[in-house]
Amino acid sequence: MDDLEWLLINGQEILKTSSIALNYPLCDHCLGRLFARSGYGLSNDQRGRSVRTVLALSHELLKDQKERIPLGFEDQLPIHQETSDEIDIEEKKSEDDGWNTVGTRSISTFLQGEQEGDCWLCNDVFKIRKELAGLIFERSKDQEFKTFLIGCKIDPGTNERERTVWEISNPSSAEPIKEELNREIGKIYGKLAPDKEFNRSNPEVAFLVDPLFKKVSVTIKPLFVKGRYRKFERGIPQTRWVCKSCHGKGCGRCEGKGKMYETSVEEIIGTPLMEAAKGENFKLHGKGREDIDVLTLGPGRPFILEITGPKIRSLDLDGITEVINQQGNGKAEIDGLVITSRKEVPRIKEGSSKKRYRARIAVKGDVEEQTLKYNISLLAQSPINQRTPRRVSHRRADKIRTRMVHEITTIIEDGNTAVVDLLTDGGLYIKELFHGDDGRTVPSLASLLGVEVVVDTLDVIDVLDEEET
Ligand SMILES: [Zn+2]
Ligand SMILES: [Zn+2]
Repeated sequence: MDDLEWLLINGQEILKTSSIALNYPLCDHCLGRLFARSGYGLSNDQRGRSVRTVLALSHELLKDQKERIPLGFEDQLPIHQETSDEIDIEEKKSEDDGWNTVGTRSISTFLQGEQEGDCWLCNDVFKIRKELAGLIFERSKDQEFKTFLIGCKIDPGTNERERTVWEISNPSSAEPIKEELNREIGKIYGKLAPDKEFNRSNPEVAFLVDPLFKKVSVTIKPLFVKGRYRKFERGIPQTRWVCKSCHGKGCGRCEGKGKMYETSVEEIIGTPLMEAAKGENFKLHGKGREDIDVLTLGPGRPFILEITGPKIRSLDLDGITEVINQQGNGKAEIDGLVITSRKEVPRIKEGSSKKRYRARIAVKGDVEEQTLKYNISLLAQSPINQRTPRRVSHRRADKIRTRMVHEITTIIEDGNTAVVDLLTDGGLYIKELFHGDDGRTVPSLASLLGVEVVVDTLDVIDVLDEEET
């Protein structure tokens, strides 16, 4: 078989598929979409129009030969004109455009004929694609972004009708209506907003269009800001602590605040950032956490603040740092703000970096200074096995973990109190390292000395970056 024969066979196949599909009134888009995988560079309506034109020509020839065979779909041959497309409108207007006007029912009648009647498959949704793109444009006006994605919600009925046409025509090269609609609306939107860039994998905003109800919803990628914080006042939790009695509504127990504490590190950092970004909410991801009564000093603790629904993405980070530190009012302060991404969040949360602490402890018993110093130094000599402390066991699984104390130095203040500086693995419970948690931490200073040990204050001096550990 030579190339020409193959060509004719394939051509026949396309025409046959089309003529069967045209048992339903289809628009050019829905007809052409059946052959979307071939004809590079053509739009589906161009494909559909081409096939329809060939069928119209063939039908005219049949009539010329007076061998009219009832095809049943000739009413479908007239091309559905696009009212929303400039090129098509041009052609529609030219009544005398050189098309064959010979014959009882001319091709020009076929080509320019009946305009009424919606596409059975898509209800002529492509005719409103300009309007839908305009809705997106309106919806995006007060939103700062560089990259976008457009998706369409296709109603079940349309999907069902598309499957029906696919079954009848059995085309191997069809495209789902959703893909074409996304693309066609995207093309028009791209012209309305030439400074925005299409991005399939990681857009800053995603628009979801509902053509049936002519609605657009927006999903905005959260904004992530990285930095370090220091906490200078005890009694401030790291994150918001919602009142258990009222779950945030406000009640007698929380004095109407809905939360257990006046403020938190999360709020001190998050509120100014969220306001600057015109976001909806915020969440603090800290590199570990300190207890409410623990200070975080030195270079501070790394954190990432996640801002959801930001309308502004380009932030004056230096200006915001100033605002945060001013409003922090000596309770907390930050520095080193930079924009980061979501993929940094698990790194900051899961990375267990080494930490430096300063603990002020008191020994309840008669212990000589040298004995105290010696036993404290022993804590850095062997692995520390810790069962989940009782104070956190309500929110953490009960298990035993092993951590190391890498450095420990002691300054005895008087006979019974000492200041201890430590460098430890991340995740070591420091208070338990001293008081022993009723034997759940082994060894502990209490178990080594055989007396009760109390931790008066504990401060985080440094949270080492991954590279430093
Ligand atoms: Zn259609
Ligand atoms: Zn409450």
